[in-house]
Amino acid sequence: MSENFIPVNAPLLDGNEKKYLQECIDTGWISSEGPFVKKLEDNFSTVMGRKHGIAVCNGSVALDAAVIALGIGKGDEVIMPTFTIICCASAITRVGAIPVLVDAHPETWNMDVDLIEAKITKKTRAIMVVHIYGLPVEMDKILALAKKYDLKIIEDAAEQIGQQYNGKQIGSFGDISCVSFYPNKHITTGEGGMILTDNDQLAEKCRSLRNLCFIPEKRFYHEELGYNYRMTNLQAALGVAQLERLDTFIEKKRKVGRRYEELLSGLKDKLEMPLSNTAYAENIYWVYGMVLRDHVPFNAEEIIKRLGENGIGARPFFWCMHEQPVFHKMGLFKNESYPVGERIARRGFYIPSGLAITDNEMRIVSDKLYEILK
Ligand SMILES: *Cc1c(COP(=O)(O)O)cnc(C)c1O
Repeated sequence: MSENFIPVNAPLLDGNEKKYLQECIDTGWISSEGPFVKKLEDNFSTVMGRKHGIAVCNGSVALDAAVIALGIGKGDEVIMPTFTIICCASAITRVGAIPVLVDAHPETWNMDVDLIEAKITKKTRAIMVVHIYGLPVEMDKILALAKKYDLKIIEDAAEQIGQQYNGKQIGSFGDISCVSFYPNKHITTGEGGMILTDNDQLAEKCRSLRNLCFIPEKRFYHEELGYNYRMTNLQAALGVAQLERLDTFIEKKRKVGRRYEELLSGLKDKLEMPLSNTAYAENIYWVYGMVLRDHVPFNAEEIIKRLGENGIGARPFFWCMHEQPVFHKMGLFKNESYPVGERIARRGFYIPSGLAITDNEMRIVSDKLYEILK
């Protein structure tokens, strides 16, 4: 990477991160048995307004554990967005259940909540809600459907830690909610994640799954098979330091979003910009994403390539689940089509919008976009 390359994301690690890591090394507590793990679980679940927090080694396995803990299995159906990351769907297929897809909303890019009810069958067990990029899913409609049809809610809040829906914390809506602490998320542990729930049995089940389903009474004796999803004390130390600054981070994210909005306002005839808010939430701009309007004669792939040649890291939007070869090979989604998701997957991209970005870098990114799109 050249010296003046502007990466798509860089985290901010200038709080107590070093101090707490030093503490791990000085005390010798580096494994998952160390005290920062419990501290991160307690502090994070408190911020999220949940009874239990179970720290795990990444956000993907948090989703895996959620699906297993809810007892979802062979032949069960789980409704989820087609426009999302693969681990949402693989958590469902790995237990032999079937992901049932819903198209994206053209403006928020979230699962279109008005299309869900038509997908509910006798086999539907849960709705997997994924809050995409900066704006949360319209939860009132999800909660009403879950109640009406007796469905569980799995909430993937990885991209919207610190976001709220009508004043209520995102990550507090699922029977089980999951987050990721990957470095592009609002707080990071390098790799890491957390499972959140208010239900004692589900929490117990997730804790057990995380730790090979050891039973406390009889070591090395197993009634069920688990996994090693444990988070280390080193990761948790970073997380505790990061969490201390969550409010500042969220403020910064929103500031970056508003600044781009201002800088790029002259490109509205070329680019569909993210909504700054909806009736129920203010955009948190996890990433600053945009969609090329139909008259622009090239796709996102091309603009990402050109930005890259100019020293700017950009990324495409998600590629829809129903267009994944791996699922076609499994016989899934073969003749399904979701036009909104297909379009934004091809026309959408996001620009550098990590916590460490500077105003000068945002100006450079903006200038290049004007140049490329003029
Ligand atoms: C990042 C992310 C994940 C996965 O988290 P990892 O920690 O990278 O495994 C899951 N869902 C969404 C929506 C994400 O953005």
